[in-house]
Amino acid sequence: MSNASPSASIARRGLLLVLSSPSGAGKTTLSKRLLAREDDVVMSVSVTTRKPRPGEVDGKDYHFISRDQFDQLVADGELLEYAEVFGNGYGTPLKPVQQWLAAGKDVLFDIDWQGTQQIHARMHDDLVRIFILPPSAEELRDRLVRRAQDAASVVAKRMAEASNEISHWAEYDYVLVNDDLDSCDAAIESILQAERLRRHRRIGLDTFVKKLRKHL
Ligand code: 5GP
Repeated sequence: MSNASPSASIARRGLLLVLSSPSGAGKTTLSKRLLAREDDVVMSVSVTTRKPRPGEVDGKDYHFISRDQFDQLVADGELLEYAEVFGNGYGTPLKPVQQWLAAGKDVLFDIDWQGTQQIHARMHDDLVRIFILPPSAEELRDRLVRRAQDAASVVAKRMAEASNEISHWAEYDYVLVNDDLDSCDAAIESILQAERLRRHRRIGLDTFVKKLRKHL
């Protein structure tokens, strides 16, 4: 998609796109859709100390690591951000992000508000933050139960944590209510397209305008 634009030939810097939401708000589905249609968007694969859920693939959904390995990555400064969520360590490996940005790719992150704050502190010019809200508490509970990948006690815990996660909604650039997957998906696409066009990301504009004015 997206190469049809007449301005697509102007070089741009990649951006860092964060999608945050409480578990069960539809973030994973929305991320998958975005990745499937946008060749220039790559997913950051986090490290975590939590155990894989059924069907999760090491290296694709997460890099599943031990607490010792996690602590070592933190000590070595290998993580762009990291946080404790539901008693487990989660973090974003720094090197792939740097490599993708240099290659002009946009990097998608499924991380919580704590990690978003840390990336904002380090790289705010490159960051676009989207928060996804569930349409109601009942819907969120239904989705968590339907998903049923976690034990009942974990579902209850995640419902309690949702309120805390949602309290950070105002720290995001865009806040979407996921009452309809297609509309939410379209809104994310609009945000991405507009953010790609922001002047400070379009590093090729200077040369383009200079050349243009030479012939005026
Ligand atoms: P889950 O265990 O359901 O996959 O993820 C639990 C929470 O951890 C989600 O809110 C998810 O966004 C967050 N998370 C996943 N990876 C990272 C990460 O690398 N850093 C941070 N800060 N949060 C993460």
